[in-house]
Amino acid sequence: MKKKILVTGGAGYIGSHVIKALGEKGYEILIYDNLSTGYKELVLYGELVIGDIADITVFDRVIEDFKPDAVMHFAASIQVHESVLNPLKYYRNNTINTLNLVELLLKKKIRHFIFSSTAAVYGTPESTEPVSELSLLKPINPYGASKMAVEYMLKDLSPVEKDFNYISLRYFNVAGADQEGRIGQKYHEATHLITRCLKAAKAEISRLEIYGTDYSTPDGTCIRDYIHVDDIAEAHIVALEYLFKKSINDIFNCGYGHGYSVREVVKTAKEVTGVDFPVEEAGRRAGDPPYLVADNTKIREELGWKPKHDDLSYIVKTAWNWEKKL
Ligand code: UDP
Repeated sequence: MKKKILVTGGAGYIGSHVIKALGEKGYEILIYDNLSTGYKELVLYGELVIGDIADITVFDRVIEDFKPDAVMHFAASIQVHESVLNPLKYYRNNTINTLNLVELLLKKKIRHFIFSSTAAVYGTPESTEPVSELSLLKPINPYGASKMAVEYMLKDLSPVEKDFNYISLRYFNVAGADQEGRIGQKYHEATHLITRCLKAAKAEISRLEIYGTDYSTPDGTCIRDYIHVDDIAEAHIVALEYLFKKSINDIFNCGYGHGYSVREVVKTAKEVTGVDFPVEEAGRRAGDPPYLVADNTKIREELGWKPKHDDLSYIVKTAWNWEKKL
């Protein structure tokens, strides 16, 4: 019997790549997405039900009909800047909606849950070492705090709900697109570095601004751990398969364990696109930590995750391939 997976937010960027991976593995999939930031055409497998997780009675019916073996929960608000301006939206969409969803799963006796968390829970790490799952959690914006609150909630729940098991995955800087160019990131407003480089290469924006060149890093710009979206998708598959075998409640970083500076990303983007787009050195963007790199030992050793695309050029190439089609 094929296992049934219900995926909230499966029409979004990361969710749609996970749907692709689940579909290729033969899972039966139902996607629940309100299409606020998702797109029907990104859904390559499964059935899409358009709905909001805030609409808990509809969601209840969907779960009742589909009877999933596991739920993967991507539906969330994810813009750091917006979270600062509208924190309640983030606590409502990310924290309260997840609480209601988890309560429903308990009621329906659905035992496996995968939660999309974020490296934003770490805030500004004090050292330049990669952060491990045991590093201090100190989010510096409502987005990170709204996700951390769920992590705490799940952790507090586990001793009392022994039949309910979850894995939270903390994503670092997810980028890139499907190798065949079928799916990738679509957005209302592009804020991420790689995407903005590509927009500059397409002359959709006049220049790429580097936010801060006076950080205490080798070239003065911030360092991030960029991970290809298909490797993130694969992390969900190994997490899911592990949950089906073992009753664990745990948290794993998803990153490659090394980072690139903004200048290095810009250089790679120029090489990949062949466009010497204009770059301007600008002031720091509020809330950017100088270093944010994952210690990924735990997910590799405990879940057996093996990344396949740890290559910045490949990440940018697949993103460029997709971007040109938009
Ligand atoms: N960044 C930049 N110019 C841009 C967009 C981002 O210099 O147009 C920098 C940003 O300050 C950070 C890094 O690129 O140091 C990654 O930012 P992004 O928004 O992609 O991801 P974040 O790490 O904030 O989640």
